[in-house]
Amino acid sequence: MKAVVIRNGTDRQYVTVTDIPKPGPIGPEEVMIRVLSVGLDGTDREIVMDRYGVLPEKAEQMVIGHELLGTVEQAGAASGFEAGQFVTVLVRRPCGSSACLPCRHGQQDYCRTGLYTERGIRAADGFLCEYVSELAQYVVPIPQACASYGVLVEPQSIVEKAWSQIACIQRRVAWEPGTVLITGSGPLGILTALTCRSMGLETHVWSKSGRDSANARLIRRCGAFYHEARESAQPGEVEPFAGGLNAFAVEQGIRPDMIWECSGHTPLAFESMKLLAPNGVLAILGVASGDTRLNIPSDALNQEIVLNNKCIVGSVNASRADFETGIGRLQTIEAQFPGMLTALLTDRLTMEQVPGLDFTGIAVKAVVDLASMET
Ligand SMILES: [Zn+2]
Repeated sequence: MKAVVIRNGTDRQYVTVTDIPKPGPIGPEEVMIRVLSVGLDGTDREIVMDRYGVLPEKAEQMVIGHELLGTVEQAGAASGFEAGQFVTVLVRRPCGSSACLPCRHGQQDYCRTGLYTERGIRAADGFLCEYVSELAQYVVPIPQACASYGVLVEPQSIVEKAWSQIACIQRRVAWEPGTVLITGSGPLGILTALTCRSMGLETHVWSKSGRDSANARLIRRCGAFYHEARESAQPGEVEPFAGGLNAFAVEQGIRPDMIWECSGHTPLAFESMKLLAPNGVLAILGVASGDTRLNIPSDALNQEIVLNNKCIVGSVNASRADFETGIGRLQTIEAQFPGMLTALLTDRLTMEQVPGLDFTGIAVKAVVDLASMET
């Protein structure tokens, strides 16, 4: 069967399309999945650009892709699944260390050892291939009504994990969030905006995309406010912390109760610490792969955080519960903003287009289609 893999080259890893054996016969607790679509995100961009991706030990290649929509081709007798069901699959697997309490409790998204594997990212084959077999415990059913946007369940699970952490933290105080700021307008930023709008929150998105970009138009369509970021540093200025976000927010009178950092541009996280309202939460979801260094007013930030009970939380990956909550949330979003979720899936690709893909040319989100839903 056809697969998109990352391989070790002589001087760098590279991505290519190849033939690999179809997964073998499944066990009673396993499911054989026919892959319909696989979404691509920033992690895939890093893998295609050889900045990330860890091959399994001694393996020569690894199938990439971790945002799956598929149908059950064959269900093991004890799997609890039926042929024809739409499904997605969890990404991370536990590290197996007896010393890792979260992994031992099925909370591998909180793995402490760093020795977890992730399908399509870290030391385990992913989903960008025609068939995938998996233990039923990692397979999540998707209602047929959600199939057209089912490929968004994995990215939505990232939003849900962060949201459940915020909800958990905020049990500490009487709190009624009114205003939300999201930095970054990629698919994660847009899904966060849709989620916040579905809860009726005043939602502001700050991002470098142009005000007439597809991202900006989608954000406005769900009733959120889109703000095109100014350069946070003037040309020739060495202090990227100084400008931009705070000046804008003060000018607009915005004091967010929640800030979601979805851009991976780290200066924004530090600017957000000041901007956040008292008792607020800053959730950092964007991942930075560069070497940015900042000269920050650390004493002033200390006062902001301590004297105002502010909380900063990092969030990565997601659990089965977050996938399941995500499915419900996507249905709510679809009911409230019909057509918005499929409108987010702007670039439909073939497997052959993935190696050497120019991610900067993607309007909002790219999806690789392997088979149609009807066949
Ligand atoms: Zn672990």
